[in-house]
Amino acid sequence: MSLHRLDLTGRPVLLLGGGPGAERRCRELLDEGARVRVVAAHACEGLRDLAEQHSTVTWERRDVVRADLTDVWLVSIQDADAARDAAVREWCAADRIWCEGVDARAVESVDVDGYAVAVDGPRPDLAQQVRSRLVTALQEGEVALPPRRAGEGRVVLVGGGPGSPDLLTLRARRELARADVVVTDRLAPTDVLRELAHEVEVVDVGKTPYHHPIPQPEINRILVERAQRGQYVVRLKGGDPFVLGRGGEELLACREAGVEVDVVPGVTSALAAPAAANIPVTHRGTATGFLVVSGHDELETSVLAQWPGTILVLMGMSRLHELTSRLLRDGRDPQTAAAVVHRAWTPRQRVVRGTLADIAERVTAAGVANPSVIVIGDVATVLDEA
Ligand code: SAH
Repeated sequence: MSLHRLDLTGRPVLLLGGGPGAERRCRELLDEGARVRVVAAHACEGLRDLAEQHSTVTWERRDVVRADLTDVWLVSIQDADAARDAAVREWCAADRIWCEGVDARAVESVDVDGYAVAVDGPRPDLAQQVRSRLVTALQEGEVALPPRRAGEGRVVLVGGGPGSPDLLTLRARRELARADVVVTDRLAPTDVLRELAHEVEVVDVGKTPYHHPIPQPEINRILVERAQRGQYVVRLKGGDPFVLGRGGEELLACREAGVEVDVVPGVTSALAAPAAANIPVTHRGTATGFLVVSGHDELETSVLAQWPGTILVLMGMSRLHELTSRLLRDGRDPQTAAAVVHRAWTPRQRVVRGTLADIAERVTAAGVANPSVIVIGDVATVLDEA
């Protein structure tokens, strides 16, 4: 006999639970010579057989009561029931009786999108670890939940971040793992698409054989039509769906068609691109706020020039010259720091730094174009100078 083992020979043990775990523990206790009293509302066949075959095993078909602890040396909890277990553990502590077995905290279920995840096992600490890994894997989309029933089609507008797959949110990953079809963009983190299960269809609306992106009404139509077919449609977009991403239009199109639609925010390039170049968009003493604008549309440079904080321009590269000269004309200091961050968080990232007066020339010389975020404001150099 091992030095670490309790000697249970001839000693009464109270076993709570009637499942296979209880049966397994009952056999071990019998081998150790214990007298086992099983108290459980139900018992599996194996456990009932043990009670029939061995005079040292009895089964009482009911719930445990305080008096069951009288004279026992050990209480073994083998079916988890959080409320009962807490009471039994308290009784044991009060009466100085050893208590072993399943830890209800381990087999307590955790909810993941309507699925109850619980893990039972001989070692509660390990079971708890397995459960937490499983929950993480489900949340991250590493383990896919079974597809939904047909007829429950919906659209989820998912922000994919600036390009690197590890800048997707956990929720974005989970939605991708569930998708029947993924409708993707040019600027979405397309590397993650390779991880999708083979049966998941990918519709690339970022390019056509003629290199023209598919027009927005056509994208809306694809989303609605797929969802109406009963498919789980993930609309994977670059950055955040609602930051210059036309996510609002897609949401409205779904709503108008009576299609259920949700949005998952993403890490917007407006903030992530400056971060990639170590540029904080606000910094104490330098800028207390930022403006995010599209360079594609008509720019109110007279308003922008007066704005004391940081200016972040998306889709502005083709008009960078025009933008900077108008800001200068409208009174912005030519020495204001500026930077352009191209393809942030991708292997092709490039950063061009300068001032409002020379950034356009520097960008032309460097041959940097879209997609880039233009940063105008002294935050662009604040960490270099610190
Ligand atoms: N919804 C997106 C923006 C879409 S508009 C978001 O939240 O990020 C497209 C513009 O985003 C590009 O012209 C460019 O200005 C910017 N952009 C997107 N990804 C970028 C990246 N990885 N690096 C730099 N700029 C990026």
